Amino acid sequence: MTVQTLWVVAEPQNGSFTTTSLELLTHARSLASNVAAITWGEGANLAAQAGEYGASTLYNVGDLAGALPGVPVAAAIAALVAQGAPDAILIPTSYDGRDIAGRLSAKLDRSVLTNVTGLSDDNGLVTEHPAFGGTQIVKAHFTGAGPGIIVIRAKSFVAEPAGGAPAAVVAASAGDTGATGTAKIVTSHVEERTGPKLEEAAVVVSGGRGLGEADKYALVEEAAKLLNGAAGASRAIVDAGWVPYSHQVGQTGKTVKPNVYIACGISGATQHMVGMKGAKNIVAINKDPDAPIFQIADFGIVGDVHKVLPALIEKLKSR
Ligand SMILES: Cc1cc2nc3c(=O)[nH]c(=O)nc-3n(C[C@H](O)[C@H](O)[C@H](O)COP(=O)(O)OP(=O)(O)OC[C@H]3O[C@@H](n4cnc5c(N)ncnc54)[C@H](O)[C@@H]3O)c2cc1C
Repeated sequence: MTVQTLWVVAEPQNGSFTTTSLELLTHARSLASNVAAITWGEGANLAAQAGEYGASTLYNVGDLAGALPGVPVAAAIAALVAQGAPDAILIPTSYDGRDIAGRLSAKLDRSVLTNVTGLSDDNGLVTEHPAFGGTQIVKAHFTGAGPGIIVIRAKSFVAEPAGGAPAAVVAASAGDTGATGTAKIVTSHVEERTGPKLEEAAVVVSGGRGLGEADKYALVEEAAKLLNGAAGASRAIVDAGWVPYSHQVGQTGKTVKPNVYIACGISGATQHMVGMKGAKNIVAINKDPDAPIFQIADFGIVGDVHKVLPALIEKLKSR
């Protein structure tokens, strides 16, 4: 093993690290003997969780006083790197994660590898990136001086606790961030959601253009609710304004890996399939027997979604 030390940006959210942060910590501990997490705000109270997922140290940037994490967290990481750099810094693909990565790249004058879905150690870190709608995997590695900055997509690894001792909390100061640190969050909006998060749901029911019109998405939502699942969508209906972007599954949306994925009126474009082909069981409802989605479906129903979905809903209700 040539990789010794990895740092993971661990984003706090509602009293826990985000699932993607835990996925990164889990994978980091399989690659490096020395794993540290970097967090802020309520993350300072999560030393036990950081340790459980493999970090021995939890660098705490502290209370951000309403600032966006990007500026102070990148400044704090740059200050830590000046004292001793890890092999790489792993960052979740999230709005704040991308902000931190960009700022850190500028501060350290180091490259960033983004859209990473695989990471291994082959005489140094090798990243994997899906290309051409996920039909090809490109491998990359850093050639210049470290540390590498690697931005990793959700669901690239499985989050598993290992039962380690709580991480040692070490203060990490952002120092004076000058004018860049003055932007403050004045309000934040959490989209209303009933049922599980799309990325974490065991069952996902997704709708596509085959639904015909926006109102018919209610069928997808109802089926998802009856299955204790989440409702997803193809980009076609997000672009058409039928559903918000937060529902989009695929290359430019979310990656999901549920036990069951039910695609309703979705053709199966490569850009959609790259976001859901990791599902354990894929069910497709499409009136076109030659639709590409049937090539990856475990169970295919050739039929009109307006007949099949109501029948499924009826059956679920009668259980
Ligand atoms: C750079 C890039 C990124 C992209 N990223 C994404 C992404 O993240 N996610 C994504 O989804 N797409 C993405 N796309 C778009 C993608 O290429 C497709 O255009 C999109 O996925 C098609 O959506 P759809 O399957 O809903 O629509 P369509 O391709 O129009 O398919 C509709 C399907 O519904 C079926 N159908 C019609 N009527 C019925 C009926 N009554 N009953 C049953 N079936 C019916 C049809 O047979 C057809 O197969 C991206 C494209 C590009 C270029």
